Amino acid sequence: MSHSGSYIRIDNISRRYGSVRALEGVSLDIAKHEFIAILGPSGSGKSTLLRLIAGLDQPTEGRIHFDGKDVTELAPHKRGIGMVFQEFLLFPHRTVRENLAFPLRMRNEPRAAIEERVEWVAGILSLNTLLDRYPSQLSGGQQQRVALGRGLVSRPTLLLLDEPLANLDRELRQEMEIEIRHYQKRLGIPFIYVTHNQEEALSMSDRIAVINNGRLEALGERQAIYDHPETPFVARFVGKSSKFQGSVLPDGKSVRLTRYDHEFALPTGSIFKYGDAIDIFVKNERFDLDRKANGGAGITCTVIDVVLRGPFLEYVLETDRGDTLIAVKPKRNEPLLARERVLLSWNPADCHIFRAGA
Ligand code: ADP
Repeated sequence: MSHSGSYIRIDNISRRYGSVRALEGVSLDIAKHEFIAILGPSGSGKSTLLRLIAGLDQPTEGRIHFDGKDVTELAPHKRGIGMVFQEFLLFPHRTVRENLAFPLRMRNEPRAAIEERVEWVAGILSLNTLLDRYPSQLSGGQQQRVALGRGLVSRPTLLLLDEPLANLDRELRQEMEIEIRHYQKRLGIPFIYVTHNQEEALSMSDRIAVINNGRLEALGERQAIYDHPETPFVARFVGKSSKFQGSVLPDGKSVRLTRYDHEFALPTGSIFKYGDAIDIFVKNERFDLDRKANGGAGITCTVIDVVLRGPFLEYVLETDRGDTLIAVKPKRNEPLLARERVLLSWNPADCHIFRAGA
């Protein structure tokens, strides 16, 4: 999986704690200008991977290279990395300037160098006018920028971020996502961003590495991870989707759902054949939804609720089998109403099919 343009090379690393396999055979190459998200559920091994890259912990097996140099055993402070954590813990009784200077003071850098670096990072993060304020005099977003500034002030060649936005409310988080991506592109150093939040991973990163159970489950450009999940885990974890079970019909080209009276064509190029039991995933925004009165094919549902989500409507549906499904659609002129009978279907190209239980 290696390619010559890689700046960080994680080569087949494993980390075990006794019998716990926190990471198992993970390889990952990261390019110099890349924003990569490490995405996975809680306990999947993300923080372990970040700690190994930072040098706060050593792998049981495997090597880590920065810019062609083996750093596997190198002390953290010699790796040229910056870090930003979820608990950003600004010192409340110190000004922004003092907070930003702190990592450099710890290293006994000369005063002039500290001042120059603080000015530099304040410029990048638009903190110039806030340098003499205390954290309590800042908005949440400004505090977050100071935390980011502390990670960047030593001019690292790599920034590691561990769920830095987890404590922010949704609106601020979305603003910060755009800002952080902008800073990464401007600085031109790799950012490695650990998160369990797929929205963050999708909005910020160039590529996403999906970690599940200590293993690298998928790696690819964000759009590809979203549109073409390679495993059922990725299909379920990235984006919001619904799962159906079905089996391939004798013609080998179409599928019948197990629980519903609905058939649809297999996507072209499908590897499945007659009799195969399959799991079908459809993203909630890829459903087609039509009034039953208009006729056609699909799963018959009743609209239970219609939730306004900005420019979208989220339809909460109940099937005649009592299952709840969600369909997200742009607002339209004649929205479907609660209690209406509808047909739910999808374009074969918009579903992801895996062998049942894979
Ligand atoms: P994540 O960051 O994705 O939530 P972690 O990397 O923290 O996951 O943990 C991965 C697995 O390793 C978990 O099962 C966790 O309990 C285990 N683990 C992490 N650190 C230790 C440790 N110091 N000792 C024992 N087990 C650990």
